[in-house]
Amino acid sequence: MPVRATKRGAERTPLDGSWDVVICGASFAGLAVARELRASDARVLVLDRYEIGERQTSACAAPTQWLVNLGLDGAIQQTFSSLLVHAPRGRSFRWSLPWTFSTFDYRTLCALLAAQGDFTFETAKISGRTGFAVRNASGAAPGDVTPRNASGDVTVHTDRGDVSAPLVVDALGWRRVLSAEANVQPPRARLSRGLEIHPDGNGRDLELWLDPRYVRAGYGWSFPADTEVRVGVGSFEPRDHVKEPTLALAREVDVPAVRFQGNWIPHQIRAAVDDGVFFVGDSAGHCLPTTAEGIRTALYFGIACGRELRAVLDGQRTREEVLARYAAFSGEHAWKFGALLKVQNAVGRLNPTPLMPLVLRALTSRRLAHWAFEHYLAIAPPSFALAGEPLPSPRARAAAAAA
Ligand SMILES: Cc1cc2nc3c(=O)[nH]c(=O)nc-3n(C[C@H](O)[C@H](O)[C@H](O)COP(=O)(O)OP(=O)(O)OC[C@H]3O[C@@H](n4cnc5c(N)ncnc54)[C@H](O)[C@@H]3O)c2cc1C
Repeated sequence: MPVRATKRGAERTPLDGSWDVVICGASFAGLAVARELRASDARVLVLDRYEIGERQTSACAAPTQWLVNLGLDGAIQQTFSSLLVHAPRGRSFRWSLPWTFSTFDYRTLCALLAAQGDFTFETAKISGRTGFAVRNASGAAPGDVTPRNASGDVTVHTDRGDVSAPLVVDALGWRRVLSAEANVQPPRARLSRGLEIHPDGNGRDLELWLDPRYVRAGYGWSFPADTEVRVGVGSFEPRDHVKEPTLALAREVDVPAVRFQGNWIPHQIRAAVDDGVFFVGDSAGHCLPTTAEGIRTALYFGIACGRELRAVLDGQRTREEVLARYAAFSGEHAWKFGALLKVQNAVGRLNPTPLMPLVLRALTSRRLAHWAFEHYLAIAPPSFALAGEPLPSPRARAAAAAA
């Protein structure tokens, strides 16, 4: 059993009520939002049910340049410049990548990202919120909201009491805990299943299996990370279970099935603003269909959201303006997520047919693979992490003006 460092008993004192920003969720998305608020002089509270970095939420592979650009390269464990893809009957194909993927240590990465922020952190389980913002009578676009009371604050309910702020972010993952709407639960929701094991071991390749022996619609993976390998199976069809396929893949690669971690993975983008709350990462369906790559996009949309919040804190925009701007920014990407969902559906249909190995073979063309992966990276490019260095705080600007 993993060791939990979360506060217990007498340590669980009631939380302090009022904040400028409350960020719910301290993984990739939440910590990326917090990073953008550094040196803003704002009172920022970050909440999670576990300590930061305590509970790994993925196989932790991401484009290296994203990690480097965010100053997180200290967490990198192994770097790969190709993908080794396995098809039925022992056929394998190597795809050259125009950029590299790296596996990283979750705890270290979270610590490095958190250190770039400037916030109060508390462990608390979040159960919901009371909205003080309602949609316009016109009913219109996401983000088009009118405060119901003078402050426009949103109250977040936790097992350590209520906290409120005018700016509240849900970075809590697929459950979308702070949504004002009733949540659709799996298996009816647009979610994939993912399960993996983390045995000790090592390897040289980032490997994928597109083989219906393991999963009809989906894929298996083995991601080496220094002294362990992360071996798992994802199914795009939520009704198909992945425990047995994961055990079968473990036998194939000859590793013990130990240290399981799994979760639902959203494969449809959702409203990034809902009744006055900002949704980032898996809570907004920001995980890319087909590949289930959600770390890069959680960082990307987290930075975008953080920059918008920063503009409110600096008095440059109103809350209502940034709700609309962030909703529009996320919405601009919807067609790319839609296109990848079509690819995902095609993979599901092709996987059991003899056509699939032909597609996999086509991508051994360096030119085709580089073209495809360049376009894929451009959905959330690493340069985004560099653009827009944070503004100096109002206090620092006043001091500079006075000097
Ligand atoms: C098995 C598996 C392997 C994966 N591998 C990869 C991979 O290699 N690369 C990749 O890019 N993507 C991968 N993904 C997808 C990736 O994990 C997610 O897209 C990514 O973690 C989303 O980040 P996030 O910050 O939005 O949410 P999460 O990382 O899920 O973080 C949510 C946070 O909210 C907290 N939380 C949740 N509910 C509550 C509550 N009620 N109260 C308080 N706190 C709460 C959690 O403790 C957690 O810290 C994988 C997914 C799975 C399931």
